Amino acid sequence: MEEMNPFKIAQMQLDEAAKILKLEPKVHKLLREPMRMHEATLRIKLDNGTTKEFKAFRSQYNDARGPCKGGIRYHPAETIDTVKALSAWMTWKTAVVGIPLGGGKGGVICNPKEMSAGEIERLSRAYIQAFYKVLGPDKDVPAPDVYTTPQIMGWMLDEYEKLVGHKEPGMITGKPLELGGSQGRGDATAMGAVYTIREAAKHLGINLHKSTVAIQGYGNAGHFAANLLHEMGAKIVAVSDSQGGIYNQNGLDHNAVMEHKEKTGSVKGFAGAKNITNEELLELPADILCPAALENQITGKNAEKIKAKLVAELANGPTTPDADKILYKKGVFLIPDFLCNAGGVTVSYFEGVQNAYNYYWTASEVYEKLDKIMTRAFQEVLSMSLKQKVNMRVAAYLVAVKRVADAMKLRGWA
Ligand code: NAD
Repeated sequence: MEEMNPFKIAQMQLDEAAKILKLEPKVHKLLREPMRMHEATLRIKLDNGTTKEFKAFRSQYNDARGPCKGGIRYHPAETIDTVKALSAWMTWKTAVVGIPLGGGKGGVICNPKEMSAGEIERLSRAYIQAFYKVLGPDKDVPAPDVYTTPQIMGWMLDEYEKLVGHKEPGMITGKPLELGGSQGRGDATAMGAVYTIREAAKHLGINLHKSTVAIQGYGNAGHFAANLLHEMGAKIVAVSDSQGGIYNQNGLDHNAVMEHKEKTGSVKGFAGAKNITNEELLELPADILCPAALENQITGKNAEKIKAKLVAELANGPTTPDADKILYKKGVFLIPDFLCNAGGVTVSYFEGVQNAYNYYWTASEVYEKLDKIMTRAFQEVLSMSLKQKVNMRVAAYLVAVKRVADAMKLRGWA
């Protein structure tokens, strides 16, 4: 299993960029490990009166460009290496979109599906009690991630403010609107992705109004993306969830699909469309393919069969390294995950800015600012890709790693 270790993968990706950038060995070495890794054992009282311990982590990967930023995951399969890898990817994500933040990530090994709301609240407060000294708007700012919610952010904010003795809404993002959350946070990831798709379509000469789209995953990222692309005139021909997918080459009625999913729990079985498997969805003759579900979906086995001209990775890690090479050779244009799905962290950054000013923007102000940042980032990565003759993923690494390395050198760290 050594080769599947996510942190080893993150280090290998960095090594490839470091080689092309001819990074100084000292800088490269510093970038291969988190700057600080915090660990704690959280002890909470369960509803049945007994106590239980949970391992908790916070990785502060790099803060040369600004305070660390990254979500907290509650998951039974959480490991220290997953947290380290995700904190490295957050460092590249904030750098590639050019927002003044570093990278961090947190996690607790627990199964929230087996816990009551009260137990989850006590666990969340215990997380802050363990780490509050290293968190804060100028140090490290958490956010929701797998199985953590705006409500959990609310409890964490409350605990933090009790401990420090003053209001500090910018210590965490993804908060409910009532506690200083930002407009537009819910669909920020999809909105950001759609801006990059629009730019890629222009570059490739794809007319979005006449294009067809297949979307794997109909959750937060996928269903908002379907809605937004439909509004932009694209035809959504296929969508899927964990139970399977549906396909209609003439286009799906988005609202009716949503209604069907709400009623039955799945998109599958929608009248007026053919049921397909998730594997079939990836290979459909659609212009644009949006993996918006899981990792490792486009692999060495199916990459040759991908017919889309444009792949937009809303999900994290949906394409394996060997598939990447095949797609590039086939001329498939790919918008890599940490660029494509950076809209979420960008609006988190906006949330922090609004908290600092104690002045709040409308949804349209948020989207306008998001559009500018995503469009600029896409164009910078595209230029790098054309200049260095590398695929968009490698180009995104080159842009991001150089920015972090430059900031480190200017600080005199290496
Ligand atoms: P979600 O839980 O809301 O939705 C996931 C969707 O994937 C669901 O529709 C689920 O049914 C589907 N799915 C699960 N197993 C599947 C399978 N085997 N085949 C096909 N579909 C399957 O999650 P989300 O927040 O939309 O996240 C989706 C991806 O986007 C993840 O990789 C996540 O890391 C990434 N992402 C999300 C955000 C965000 O703000 N939501 C930000 C950055 C990245």
